[in-house]
Parts: sequence; C-alpha cells; structure tokens
Amino acid sequence: MRKTILIVEDEPSIAKLQRDYLEASGFRTEIAPNGELGLERGLSGKFDMIVLDLMLPRMNGFEVCRQIRDNLDVPILMVTARREDIDMIRGLGLGADDYITKPFKPAELVARVKAHLSRYERLKGLSGLTNEVEVREIRMDPDSRRVFVRDAEVTLTTKEFELLHFLAIHPNRVFSKDQLFERIWESTRWATLRR
Ligand code: CA
Repeated sequence: MRKTILIVEDEPSIAKLQRDYLEASGFRTEIAPNGELGLERGLSGKFDMIVLDLMLPRMNGFEVCRQIRDNLDVPILMVTARREDIDMIRGLGLGADDYITKPFKPAELVARVKAHLSRYERLKGLSGLTNEVEVREIRMDPDSRRVFVRDAEVTLTTKEFELLHFLAIHPNRVFSKDQLFERIWESTRWATLRR
C-alpha cells in the first residue's frame, strides 16, 4: 500500500518541490499551507509521516509538532531555514524524529522519509502492534490464528499452529522433543488445569 505523507509548508514552491519528489518516489502526498491546517490534518491519523516546516503562518512548527506528538505516534521530519534552529528544537524536546535545513537536496528529503518510515515499521513490529511472524515463505498471524504459505492460506490444527509459531519466533534454535513437548503440550495442559 502506498504511504501518505503530509507536507506542512507555506511556501508554495518548496511545497511543490517536496510533493513532486515524494510522489515520484511512490508516495501519496497532501499539502497543508499553514500551521493550523497542518495540525488539523496531522491529527486525522491518515498520514504515515509528516514533513513539517518550522516557520508557518497561524501556528508555528514547534506548536504543531508538540500537539501532534502528544496525540499520535507518527514520524515527523522538521524543515528549518536555519541550522541554529535544530539545537533549539532539540532543546525543547518536541519529539521530532529528524531535521533537515533549507535549502535541502530533494533526494535527501526522500531518503530521510524512507529511512524513518522503515524505522517506524520495525518499531511497530517490535512493540507488538502487529504480532505477525514471517519466516521465509511462511506468514503467521497469532491473533487470527491464520497461516499463509506463499500467500496461500493453509489450515493447521491448534497444536500444529502452536508448534509452528513457537519455532517461527525462535529462528535458528534447536529444541529437543522434550522441550517442545513441555512448551507446547504441557503449558496448555497447565493453563487448562489452572482454570
Ligand atoms: Ca515557512
């Protein structure tokens, strides 16, 4: 699915430059031309990342960043005209993920956007927002108990699922039959007994 980036930028030529390069790299974009709109759109939760100018009419980038950060976990790349601003933003602890100064190379902007998106995806995976496990061509979702091999769904019994899932979340480790028995069969037996 294409990722959507919110561009909060009041200078039309810069907003257009960012939009053109991001869209050429496969992203969808939306432009908010002032801070108030940027905050409103940013809080909609529809965006995978926000590229946020610092000096904006109606509400500055500091405030927009702070309010979005208080409400949402979305990567924010701040764009500043002056290098000195970066220290100030850091000092304020607004929680921006990265900073880029104007004039920037559009390719660098795109590279940073991509880097932060993939970092967020990794963190999301680690924090358990998605419990899906992927090992080579097998994909398992323990929440729905569904298993896919090369995107084709296969049906497993409960124990088969647990065994495969256990092995999938412990890649490159060897377990004895006893260990597996204990982990898969005994643990469920105990869980049943305790009820
Ligand atoms: Ca500006």
